[in-house]
Amino acid sequence: MTKPLVVITGASSGIGEAAARKFSQEGYPLLLLARRLERMESLGLPNSLCRQVDVTDRIAFRAALEEAEEQYGPTDCLVNNAGILRLGRMDTQDPQEWQLMFDINVQGLLNGIHLVLAGMRRRKSGTLINISSVAGRKTFVNHAGYCGTKFAVHAISEGIREEVADDNVRVVTIAPGIVETEILDHTTSDEIRQEYKDWKKEIGGGIRSEDTAEAIWYAYQQPQNVCIREVVLAPTRQQ
Ligand code: NDP
Repeated sequence: MTKPLVVITGASSGIGEAAARKFSQEGYPLLLLARRLERMESLGLPNSLCRQVDVTDRIAFRAALEEAEEQYGPTDCLVNNAGILRLGRMDTQDPQEWQLMFDINVQGLLNGIHLVLAGMRRRKSGTLINISSVAGRKTFVNHAGYCGTKFAVHAISEGIREEVADDNVRVVTIAPGIVETEILDHTTSDEIRQEYKDWKKEIGGGIRSEDTAEAIWYAYQQPQNVCIREVVLAPTRQQ
């Protein structure tokens, strides 16, 4: 049987890349979105359309989605994974850093949801999988802006879940702790980056992107009448 379209944002590295590989192994056609097109194309996944889309750009996002749906049919699952982490102290951090985090982690996520949700409600089926964080459930020093975005992801997910439950649409929040990816590289303060690396070392390192992809897959492959509302997974030694 032909499988329906799965859309994954931030598929050029880390968790998004691992999720793309997992869904592809399971035979799903994919729309993969990120800014680094060559990284997505280099995955060489069959039945996958890779498009250079910044999730804050609604017009480009919509165009890629329409193109993919033309080819593979309506979106059954959107994995809202694109996100950035810019750690910093609120008094010294460049405001552009938290602005960018809110633009990508929150507005970008809402853009994706807005584009697919009406179709899912009409079809009385579909799944939104929003990648939040343990930092969306508890706060950490140097994470004020980032935690703000991820608490927002939790709130948005639950709010939308309540709105669309009657339409048989599932909304899942995945909240990982530390995952070994490129995400820390973008924090501009050498000192804060080093503190984070020391913390990670103390607890024996982060979990793998593949571990998070398995959690995403676990939630998705349940029958449509089973909604895994939230999965929290983290290194065992992380507090
Ligand atoms: P990576 O930096 O490896 O991946 C982030 C992905 O997001 C990349 O594919 C990047 O692609 C994409 N991205 C960033 N900005 C944009 C944008 N404006 N438009 C489109 N795509 C964008 O990090 P992770 O895999 O770790 O992060 C994935 C998600 O997991 C994020 O939401 C993050 O907050 C969350 N998370 C990560 C944790 C961790 O410890 N690593 C822990 C908890 C949550 P490109 O640059 O090519 O656009």
